Amino acid sequence: MSISILVPCFNEELVIKDFYDEVTSILVNNNLDFELVFINDGSTDGTLNILKKIASKDKRVQYVSFSRNFGKESAMLAGLSYCRGLAVVIMDADLQHPPSLIPEMIKNYESGYDQVIAKRNRKGESQVRSIISKLYYKVMNKLVDIELVDGIGDFRLLSRRAVDALLALNENNRFSKGLFSWIGFNEYIIEYDNVNREVGTSKWSFPKLLNYGIDGVISFNNKPLRISIYIGTFVTIIDILYVIFTLFQIIVTGVQVPGYFTTIAIVSLIGGIQLIFLGIIGEYIGRIYYEAKSRPHYIVQETNCNELKQDTNETLSSQSMYIKVNSF
Ligand code: UDP
Ligand code: MG
Repeated sequence: MSISILVPCFNEELVIKDFYDEVTSILVNNNLDFELVFINDGSTDGTLNILKKIASKDKRVQYVSFSRNFGKESAMLAGLSYCRGLAVVIMDADLQHPPSLIPEMIKNYESGYDQVIAKRNRKGESQVRSIISKLYYKVMNKLVDIELVDGIGDFRLLSRRAVDALLALNENNRFSKGLFSWIGFNEYIIEYDNVNREVGTSKWSFPKLLNYGIDGVISFNNKPLRISIYIGTFVTIIDILYVIFTLFQIIVTGVQVPGYFTTIAIVSLIGGIQLIFLGIIGEYIGRIYYEAKSRPHYIVQETNCNELKQDTNETLSSQSMYIKVNSF
C-alpha cells in the first residue's frame, strides 16, 4: 500500500459518490497503489449507506463509522491510526480540496518531503470571512508558540513518520493545524485556487468557528495566563496608587462625598478584569480535567476494516462496549 487517502465525512450524501469517482479516476490514471479510508463521523443522512455500497464493490475502500458525531479532529485521528499507506493524504469530502493536486503532492513526497501542504488563496470567498480569518491569523501568531499560515488547513500529504509523530501526541483536545506545525519535518507548499462548496452545506457555523479559534489559542500556549499576571499586576499598582492618593486627599481636605462614581467605576473595572481572567484560568483547568479523564477520542460503531474489527472483538470479550479505545 503506497498511498492512503483519508476522508472525514459528516452528512456528505450529496457529494461522496462524486468524490469517490473523481479521486479514484485520478489515482488510477496515475498508476498509483492506494486505499481510501472514509471516516463516517456520525452522519444522520445516507452517507454510511453510500459508503457501504462503494466498499462492497471496491476492495480499496475502507470505512469506519462512529457511534455519533465526534468532530473532524477525532475523525482525522481515527483515520490516521487506521491508514496503512507509506503516505497519507487528508482531504475533505466536499471536493473543495481538488483531487487533481494529489499526483503533484506525491511527486514532492517522493523527492523527500514529509509534509506536502496544499495552501489555498481566498478567491471567491465572502469578504467578511476572509477579513475575519486574516485578522485571526495575525492575532494567533502573536499569541501562540508555533507558526500558523492563512490558507493552510488539513489538506496535506503526510509521510509515515509524520503520521506516527502525530499519533504519538496523545492530547485529548486536538487542534490539528497546530499539531501539524508542531511536529515539524520538512515541508513543501503547493498553492491552489479556493473552490467554493458546490453541494451540501459547510458544517462550520459562526459559533463553531469562534470556538475553534479559541481552542487554537488555548491549546498551544500559556500566554493568556501570563497576560493575566501582567494585567493583574498593572491594575493592582494603579489601585494602590489610587488608594494612597485618596488617603492623602482625605488627610489634607477631610472626607468628601464625591468620589462615589470613581469608586464604582474602579470596582466594576477590576471585577470585569477578574472575571475575564477567571474565565481563562477556568479554560485551562477545564482542559486539565478532560486530559485527566483521558477518554477515547471516538467510539467506532461499525467498520469493514479487519484490524479494527479484531480490536473491537477484543474489547467486547473484555466486557467493554463495542469500541476501539486508542492505545495512546
Ligand atoms: N466534517 C466531519 N465532522 C464534522 C464536521 C465536518 O467529519 O463534525 C468533515 C466534512 O464532512 C468535510 C470536512 O470535515 O469532509 C470539512 O467540513 P466542511 O466542508 O463543512 O468545512 P469547511 O470546508 O466549510 O471549512
Ligand atoms: Mg468544505
